[in-house]
Parts: sequence; C-alpha cells; structure tokens
Amino acid sequence: MAVGKLTYYFNFVVLALTFAFIATKLISESFKSLDLVLFSIFIIISMLSLIGIGEEKRWAWFLLMILFAFLIAYTVGLFVLSSSMAVFILIVLNIIAFIVSTLSIKTDLVPPVPSEDKTDKLKKELANLVEEKRALEQEFDELKEDQLIYSPSSKYYHAESCEWAKRIKNKKVITETEAKELKLKKHNCLK
Ligand SMILES: [Zn+2]
Repeated sequence: MAVGKLTYYFNFVVLALTFAFIATKLISESFKSLDLVLFSIFIIISMLSLIGIGEEKRWAWFLLMILFAFLIAYTVGLFVLSSSMAVFILIVLNIIAFIVSTLSIKTDLVPPVPSEDKTDKLKKELANLVEEKRALEQEFDELKEDQLIYSPSSKYYHAESCEWAKRIKNKKVITETEAKELKLKKHNCLK
C-alpha cells in the first residue's frame, strides 16, 4: 500500500505543477477560449480521478492514465510553440505519471484473495479440530473402558485398581457396554 500512496502523491504533484504552469501561461498570455475549456476539463477529470483513487476505485487510475495522455499531448504542443526547459520537464514528469498510472491499473487488476476463501479455510480447520477432538474422546473412552474388570462368576464389574478386582483369579477385561449387556452391576469402586 505504501507504493500506492507514493504513486498517488507523485501523480498529485505532477498534476499540480502542470496545472500551475498552464494557469500562469493562461494568465500571462491572452486567454484563448479553447485553452480555458481544456484546462477546466483537465481540472475536473483530475479531481474525479484523485477522489476515485482515494476511494480505491480502479476506473480512477484509468481516468488518470487518459488524463496524463492528454496532458502529454498538450505539453508537447506547448513545447513545439515555446521549446522552453520548464515545458520539457513537465513533459517528462507527465510521461512518468502516465506510466505509473498504467502500472497501477495493472496491479489493481490482480484480484484480491476473496474473504470467502479465508472463511472456507477456517471452517475446514475447525471441522478438522472437531474431528480430532472426537477421535481423542473416543480413544479416551476406550482407555477408560479397557480398565474395567470382571469375573465370570460374579455379578459385579470393577475398576482395575479395585482391591476386590485384584483378588479375582479369572480376570476378564470388559467394556461398559458389554457389562450392561451382561446385566452386570457396578461395584462400589466405580460409583
Ligand atoms: Zn470393585
């Protein structure tokens, strides 16, 4: 964005210098109605495009490019009449401003990354995280269930750490769902 601002100020200065020069020329020499009309159009177009650029509109750079093309033609016309150094500098400045404006149109044409893509990416990431959480929860539940112990000769099932469970000779591992299917009761160690 810093380059864009620099371009903006550079074009602004070139316009100001060119208009100031044309204005002094119009005042010092006799007013020609055609010059005055052209000058007014130049000023209106420049204001429109500078406002547009401020609003980050692409057409504004396009308008500015056309304006500089006209200003180059106009200053070249002046140079043919007067061949002064000042006019020559104005021509060079306007040519640079024209090129800069054209490049600005091109860089603006590169589409910005749509915000929707970002939202989609975040949604996918969120979905992945949810999936990961679910997998971890399942793993955790399985680990918890793995620790359940029972004896085929008893109606109760236990936590592996239970003192009663440690005494069971024919230990069997069972899950909570399996225990419910076998209609086993929770021992006190699990309550
Ligand atoms: Zn127990």
